[in-house]
Formats: sequence, structure tokens, C-alpha cells
Amino acid sequence: MKDIPYEDLIEAAAGCRILHAEGHADMTLGHLSLRDPQDRGVWMKRSGIGLGEVDGPEDFVLIDFDGRRVAGEGRIHKEWPIHTEVLRARPDVNAVGHSHPFYATLFSSMDVELEAVTNEAAFLGNEVARFDETRGLIDTQELGASLAAALGGTSTLLLRNHGVLFAGATIPEATLMGVFLERACRSQMELLKTHQRYVATPRSELAAKREQILDPNLVENFWSFYKRKADGLRRRSAEGQTFPG
Ligand SMILES: [Zn+2]
Repeated sequence: MKDIPYEDLIEAAAGCRILHAEGHADMTLGHLSLRDPQDRGVWMKRSGIGLGEVDGPEDFVLIDFDGRRVAGEGRIHKEWPIHTEVLRARPDVNAVGHSHPFYATLFSSMDVELEAVTNEAAFLGNEVARFDETRGLIDTQELGASLAAALGGTSTLLLRNHGVLFAGATIPEATLMGVFLERACRSQMELLKTHQRYVATPRSELAAKREQILDPNLVENFWSFYKRKADGLRRRSAEGQTFPG
């Protein structure tokens, strides 16, 4: 096949494995996608394998904005309209993820505001969008467009009783948004379990803190760290030392 963005898809595959290692694993569910650099559509993780089993470019399928296969082997996830519609609505976004991380999915069921109780929550900025038009799959272009509208100009969204959506200009940025959203939900849920009073980072400080943490050097450092961590887990799993849960 011609014109495969190999380097970008190697990065996208690493993003999938990081998500698997950081709480986003849910059997074979969950997907990450990348806008085709030639604007032919979206390269999306193929269906039938878990996020942690994504090896490289061969595990991605290129679909056009109406879900038709352009290139690549393997089945196409039913929720492809999430990716096409978010990318259609957001020219600033090139990478989109959707998954069912445990804590964030639990958090989506509560009418509790997600607050910045830890550093990574400030990374998410002020707004985490919400979507509760349906608890079912986002498997039509209409639902995908509705989800994209709910996301608005933000990077993260909780789908009630379903999972999360995260987006970024690059694969590392989108992946880190997904990782930090899950960590932020987990932190706050742990605090809520204590039934103790707590304080969160004041709204007035969030923008400045986000600027500090979103420093491009730090983003690169965080991405490299999570890649090393996920690759280490994978190596140990290949050597039979851990089960790739
Ligand atoms: Zn889903």
C-alpha cells in the first residue's frame, strides 16, 4: 500500500499501549485514531484486539469521513463516527481517543464536578465536557456530530455510563489527556471515599498551572516516560513475568 504514514502510526500504536497500561484497558474495546496527513480520512486502531496488543501500522485501518475503508486490513470499530465527526468539527485536533477506563467511567455516572485535587487534573484545564444523550454506542454520524458538539473546544469529555473521549493536536497530547483524565477521576474518587473535607486547586489558578504543566518539554518528557513504562511492561509480559491484564 502506498502513502502509509509509518512513523505517525508507530507513535499511535505506542499511544494505544500506553492507554492500556494506564487504566484504559477494557478487553478489545477502546480506540485511538490519527488524522491522515494527506486528508484522506482517519487512521483508526483496528477492531478485535485490545489496546495493549497494538503492535504497529498494520493494526490501523484508514477510513474516509463516511466510514468507508480506504486502506488497511482488519475490522473497523462500530464507533468510528466518534473519530470522523470530532476531526470534522475540530481542525485543531489530529488525534482522538475513546475508551472505557474504570474510574472515569464510574465518575461519569455521578453528578459531581471533576475538580483539580492533584497536579494532573490541572493539566485538563477548566472544563471536562459531558455527554448523556445516549448510554449506547456512538455508532451513527448523527450521534458522532452530537458528541463533537458536546466536546466543543475542549480536550476531554465524560460519556455518562459509557466512557471517555480525549483529543489533541498530536498523538502524545491526546494520549496524555486520556491518561490524566483517568488519574484525575481516580484521585477525586479516592478522596470522596474518605468522606473528609478537602480543597481543590482554585479555578483562578487553573489556567496558570495548566500553562506550567503543558510546557512542551514536559509533555515530551511525560510521553517518553509513559512509553518506557508501557514498553517495560510489554517486555516483561512477553517474557512471561506478568499477565497483560
Ligand atoms: Zn465505547
